[in-house]
Amino acid sequence: MSSLFISDLHLAGERPAITDLFLHFTKTIAPRAQALFILGDLFEYWIGDDNTDDALAAVVADVLKRLSSSGVKVFLMQGNRDVLLGPGFADQSGAELIDDPTLINLYGRPTLLTHGDALCIEDIEYQKFREYARSPMHQQQFLTQSLETRRERMLQMRAQSEMSKQKKDLEIMDVTTSAVDQLLRNHHYPNIIHGHTHRPARHQHDVDGHRCERWVLTDWYQTGGYLLCDASGCYSHKLSQ
Ligand code: MN
Repeated sequence: MSSLFISDLHLAGERPAITDLFLHFTKTIAPRAQALFILGDLFEYWIGDDNTDDALAAVVADVLKRLSSSGVKVFLMQGNRDVLLGPGFADQSGAELIDDPTLINLYGRPTLLTHGDALCIEDIEYQKFREYARSPMHQQQFLTQSLETRRERMLQMRAQSEMSKQKKDLEIMDVTTSAVDQLLRNHHYPNIIHGHTHRPARHQHDVDGHRCERWVLTDWYQTGGYLLCDASGCYSHKLSQ
């Protein structure tokens, strides 16, 4: 029995090789697991569940549906890129939407799942944007626009974010240790699994006399990968194209 964790695939029409790798993963590796947790940024951007003509979204929903129908539980968390991923897509995929963060019992170990961007508190500009992008009022407003307008706006925001990232110190785009410590305290010292920073690693945090593991998931840019957890612990695996 094992559970798999992935994030930051950033699936997009322009990167078909990564979509193929994901399809391969869902057909060969994921069916052997008990559960698949997708911890945000499955898609490079998401303009709303009502964008039903999107070929990529249809293909992804279809493979996830096959996986969930075969008995693998699929869990879906929003990331910052696909914060509008909602119940429509989840239904289509047979997936269950989970909150950020969500505490699970992972083979006896309390484990907190989060996308990870909420932990990057030194990037104040980003945190402001995060609050805006997650506000229900703004989301509602955005979703009343035409698909075409939404797509244009989303591509604009994506370009702006790329530009501002180039000017930022690499350090402020990583998680802040004090934010991690606080999260660990708030949830009674679980382990943590998150993505977002694209810095795959296993960290150890000693907080108030508790030793906690923090796993950072890999992105799927050059190639992909996943974290496999079972009763004996967690192991990261790379996928080759
Ligand atoms: Mn992210």
